[in-house]
Amino acid sequence: DKEPVTVLVTGAAGQIGYALVPMIARGLMLGSNQPVILHMLDIEPAAESLKGVKMELIDAAFPLLRGVVATTDVVEACKDVNIAVMLGGFPRKEGMERKDVMSKNVSIYKAQASALEEHAAADCKVLVVANPANTNALILKEFAPSIPEKNITCLTRLDHNRALGQISEKLNVHVSDVKNVIIWGNHSSTQYPDVNHAVVTTSNGHKPVRELVADDNWLNTEFITTVQERGGAIIKARKLSSALSAASAACDHIRDWVLGTPKGTWVSMGVYSDGCYGIQSGLIYSFPVTCDKGEWNIVQGLKIDEFSREKMDKTAQELIQEKKLAMSCL
Ligand code: NDP
Repeated sequence: DKEPVTVLVTGAAGQIGYALVPMIARGLMLGSNQPVILHMLDIEPAAESLKGVKMELIDAAFPLLRGVVATTDVVEACKDVNIAVMLGGFPRKEGMERKDVMSKNVSIYKAQASALEEHAAADCKVLVVANPANTNALILKEFAPSIPEKNITCLTRLDHNRALGQISEKLNVHVSDVKNVIIWGNHSSTQYPDVNHAVVTTSNGHKPVRELVADDNWLNTEFITTVQERGGAIIKARKLSSALSAASAACDHIRDWVLGTPKGTWVSMGVYSDGCYGIQSGLIYSFPVTCDKGEWNIVQGLKIDEFSREKMDKTAQELIQEKKLAMSCL
């Protein structure tokens, strides 16, 4: 029997948490032969609700689930974790200034970083989902200096999957036949969903999405804004933000990172930039990556046209501003 892997989920009593923990316990994140121990953290006002989630996990009798800790103690939550999925964050409420929200999240991520630094496994892999995801991840990186910087990432896989979904709907092809879209930059409305390198598997081999869609105008306008604004559209329809698709994307992100991306396929991940593609180093920016043996690597050498360049820089600019704001809150 394999040793269990310990997975921390913060903000676990929230909407995404409720969708995510059963997926993890079923093996959708780490594989159907990998036992898991779940550590669920939330804040005091959510403690009762968190207990309820733990009761349901027990009642679901998941064969792979070897233990459940539900706690409001960050030290207990971080103890020996191998994978940390950070959903907990302060939501932006009506009338709040950006700076106020940032300041709340900076202090949350600073505290949780220190707990991970001290108590998590040395090679712990971290995925930040809570918004502003890229900048929260950057704060976490700053305050957990012993966790390798390559181990700290943020979620843009939901945006990536949304882009695949839009192409599949447009072309009426199966979504699993579409691959290699890219989300560049921030997980915000400035993100740039790029289809210039995306392909569809057809009975005649791989075909570029640009060739199959043929409608450049749609690709350059409506496609991009639909992906950028999809979160808002879901809130409008559901009166709640996306949760099942966010949870599913978090599983995809960790699964591909740990178990590897299929040959010839890349995915989008928010990772620590090293200056490639002309993106300032020291930001958490979403890039196309391939993963192998638990490590991601940015796909190199893709041609960037002027249209893309402008959009990639715009979202980088926003991240530079967010970083400044976050640093001023420290
Ligand atoms: P959700 O579970 O719906 O969302 C959790 C976080 O993920 C939010 O910050 C949300 O940002 C973010 N997010 C990122 N991408 C997406 C996406 N594509 N769709 C939806 N959300 C996305 O929030 P809940 O309010 O239901 O739950 C949050 C939990 O966190 C609560 O249980 C709360 O008690 C806990 N919490 C923990 C704190 C801490 O650890 N100190 C502090 C505050 C709350 P956005 O808000 O922009 O939608």
